Amino acid sequence: MKANPNSPLPVSYEDVAAAAARLSGQAHRTPVMTSSTVNARTGASAFFKCENFQRMGAFKFRGAYNALSQLTPQEKKRGVLAYSSGNHAQAVALAGRMLGVKPVIVMPMDAPPVKLEATRGYGAEVVVYDKHKVDREAFSRQLAEERGLAVIPPFNHPHVVAGQGTAAKELIEEVGPLDFLLVCCGGGGLLSGCAIAADALSPECKSIGVEPELGDDVVRSFRTGTLQSCHNPDTIADGARTHSMGDVTFPLVMHYVDDMLSVSDPELLKSMFWLWERMKMVVEPTGALAATALLEGKRDFKGARVGVIISGGNVDLRWAAQQMLKS
Ligand SMILES: *Cc1c(COP(=O)(O)O)cnc(C)c1O
Repeated sequence: MKANPNSPLPVSYEDVAAAAARLSGQAHRTPVMTSSTVNARTGASAFFKCENFQRMGAFKFRGAYNALSQLTPQEKKRGVLAYSSGNHAQAVALAGRMLGVKPVIVMPMDAPPVKLEATRGYGAEVVVYDKHKVDREAFSRQLAEERGLAVIPPFNHPHVVAGQGTAAKELIEEVGPLDFLLVCCGGGGLLSGCAIAADALSPECKSIGVEPELGDDVVRSFRTGTLQSCHNPDTIADGARTHSMGDVTFPLVMHYVDDMLSVSDPELLKSMFWLWERMKMVVEPTGALAATALLEGKRDFKGARVGVIISGGNVDLRWAAQQMLKS
């Protein structure tokens, strides 16, 4: 698929602003952190937007809440379905509970028990499937049809993208215009939403997406202008193991994003520990993608004002400590 530059884009800044109004008082206005150590090391003025402190520990709450709150009364009554074993599941579960919409979450039966429990803990019905026997999407589609549930995708939906963009809107409103905005990227929902906000609020700002090297489908799609995919990328950045962008995020990324960078898994771990030790922040591997591009000097940011989205903090600390001991 090639992005058609003539077809209208599916999300505008007005959609991001409307999402911000819906999220007001519902999502946390997360803190922006600065670090003189980071600035000394990189020569930049860096502003970290800390979505690891968002409700349920990641920005995904923004998109899920924005999408669920725009369902029709009938759709709300019937309930919603999401398939994910990660942050999107918990985001839909929590937003569903807040809005009185019954969430059904489809997860593989061998998902980590803590994740199954956490999702049930938010009040969701968890339906498990055998990933060796059935295709997740086909299984979910059939279940949604049988029960009349609205499917809430993790990134490829205009309301989800608009919700994610509110993170950058808050950041720029708080710190002023930026030269660069670095954004963690999986399927491109957060990246496209944030790039739309940056384009409207800080027109000179260059939005840059950061992906894991092992799952660099967006980097390749961006360079070639043709949608590329990755099959089950084996990266520790589990939130960025997406197969490919979708028909909503791909044209938005092509239109609004200025560049894409990638970082290796060892680099990700290094910056995850660095954020942990120096900035006292627990950040999950995927959540550290954008910060890693800055800390590892993937581009020269000297003298620039750089916004960095820290996207989430849901990491098993026992696992992280083991990785630290191994490194
Ligand atoms: C989902 C997720 C991402 C990737 O977001 P996309 O909108 O799919 O690009 C990045 N970081 C965290 C913590 C996530 O949960």
